[in-house]
Amino acid sequence: MLTKISESCFCIKGHVNIGYITKNGQGLLIDCGLDKGAAKKIVKILKENQLPLHYCIITHGHVDHYGGAAYLQKELQVELYSSKLESSFVANPILEPIYLWNGAMPIKELRNKFLEGEEAHIASFLNEGFQQIGPFSFNVLSFPGHSYGQIGIFIDEILFAADSYFGVEVLKKHKVPFIVDAKATLETLEKIYNFICQGALPGHGEFETDIKRTIYANIECHENILKYLLSRLEVEENGISMENLQTIFFHQYELSPANVGAWLLYRTSYTAYISTLVEKGLVTISIHDHKLWLRCS
Ligand SMILES: [Zn+2]
Repeated sequence: MLTKISESCFCIKGHVNIGYITKNGQGLLIDCGLDKGAAKKIVKILKENQLPLHYCIITHGHVDHYGGAAYLQKELQVELYSSKLESSFVANPILEPIYLWNGAMPIKELRNKFLEGEEAHIASFLNEGFQQIGPFSFNVLSFPGHSYGQIGIFIDEILFAADSYFGVEVLKKHKVPFIVDAKATLETLEKIYNFICQGALPGHGEFETDIKRTIYANIECHENILKYLLSRLEVEENGISMENLQTIFFHQYELSPANVGAWLLYRTSYTAYISTLVEKGLVTISIHDHKLWLRCS
């Protein structure tokens, strides 16, 4: 379903929210869905509304945001753009299963369409700051935390925020959102909290004109997790292994991943929170009894 959110901006709701902007007879997509099927649906909706399509910005290299790109590029010659770092994942989709599997060659179970999309070629990298593609002028914002080089797009007073934050309902459902860097996630959220715009659209959640309450809920979620992990470490006088704390953490947050891939995604988030505690100097990490060992500083 296509929803108008400002004079030139639209949203196509689905498993992931797709942004769309039209100007001077040209069309720009922001993200393009999980796969060929999702991309076809987007194209059909645009056609039904007689809206053009020429360009697509990929906010970050997660399959639900870039999986449809190969189809758009091959079949409709849509030009693709992304940040330099996230482009690596779009051009080499095996990288996500690789990092989830600790950098080793991933097991077959991880090589599925939810973790590894169809590769596509990025026409040009988008750097932070003012940018122009065809008739579209916009600001590229650096939103690291959920992924390494995620970008947000600020165009015609609307912020397309990607997965820098989640809608309150989505947050409740996930309990522990996917992140690769807790410190960067919180810094990105602070940046968005103070950002002045007419409205913002997250990758998962609702378009809102006032996003402060939603952003605050996201900040609270990450801060609570960091506080919980630190408090749990404080009671372990001799420290605890990285694995054991992870098990306690999964219990506490009632995480019940349905498959190995989902378990690994949660492990990455857990690792990201631990990294931040270590980098802040609150926790030390060493090797003890053949295990990675965590201790309060
Ligand atoms: Zn994502």
